[in-house]
Amino acid sequence: MNYERVTFVGLGLIASSMFWAMRRAGMRAHVTGYARSEQTRATACKIGLCDTVCDDLASAVREADLVVLCLPVGAMGVVMAEVAPHIKPGATVTDVGSVKRAVIEAVAPHIAPGVHFVPGHPLAGTEHSGPTAGFAELFDNRWCLLTPNGADTAAVAQLSTYWQALGAKVEEMDPDHHDLVLAVTSHAPHLIAYTMVGVADDLHRVTNSEVINFSATGFRDFTRIAASDPTMWRDVFLTNKDATLEILGRFTEELFALQRAIRTGDGEMLHDYFTRTRAIRRGIIDAGQDTDAPDFGRAKS
Ligand code: NAP
Repeated sequence: MNYERVTFVGLGLIASSMFWAMRRAGMRAHVTGYARSEQTRATACKIGLCDTVCDDLASAVREADLVVLCLPVGAMGVVMAEVAPHIKPGATVTDVGSVKRAVIEAVAPHIAPGVHFVPGHPLAGTEHSGPTAGFAELFDNRWCLLTPNGADTAAVAQLSTYWQALGAKVEEMDPDHHDLVLAVTSHAPHLIAYTMVGVADDLHRVTNSEVINFSATGFRDFTRIAASDPTMWRDVFLTNKDATLEILGRFTEELFALQRAIRTGDGEMLHDYFTRTRAIRRGIIDAGQDTDAPDFGRAKS
């Protein structure tokens, strides 16, 4: 059984991708979208994003069977405090935030008795944001992690079925473990990319036009990641502080070890290290989470 009425609170990349994936899957649910800004609502209406577009939170959620919070992590608690009294008993509230413990702490206290809260995180995204950034294929073959934290099992199963219809593979995970895993696979790498692009910007002996014209694929990948939405990523680091700092501590130790190997000319250490990391790349390709087709940054998506 799937939901008859779905409401997206926030109409950016993730909400719009979910909407187009629902339509591709042939889901007949009535979809309502809420956005705070007039500009986002106007764009949503223009591109046919959602059946109904609302400027009022209470009426957006009143009849919903599923409410999906598609906001920056730091905004979820405030928005939930306002909207919670208007959500009907039996409905499910979920979110798509990149951090889970902080979202649970901010949102769960506002959830009324009889409403199910099943936090979630689709591991899929791009560096683009806003209502026009979404596309139906975003979640295909990507993981969506649910961190139910004791939520009703039927509500969890229904949400899991919904995500699978959107193309995702679903797994349940403890919220703290989620935050540690994502600190390794997403949050720390983003910070490193932001730093590397910042270094290039700051290095006055190399001009900006040299950086732009002569960028190698590694640096170009960094610039793509470092173009991600500043609000979203500020919130990720402020709310996943402990796990990110733990991973950055490990990263710094490893970086110093590599630095020492370069300084002392320890080629064997460097070769062994790069052999080990190459195997991880192979594992990601074998798991179908990326392809090894070379695109040298030229692929059109
Ligand atoms: P997005 O494209 O930037 O859209 C964010 C939406 O949230 C916009 O509709 C914006 O409204 C609204 N919003 C922002 N601050 C708000 C506030 N204080 N109060 C009310 N509404 C507010 O963001 P997104 O990429 O879809 O990300 C949404 C969530 O998904 C985030 O929690 C993020 O961690 C998570 N996520 C993102 C990715 C990714 O790669 N982007 C991947 C997985 C999960 P206006 O347009 O009206 O300003």
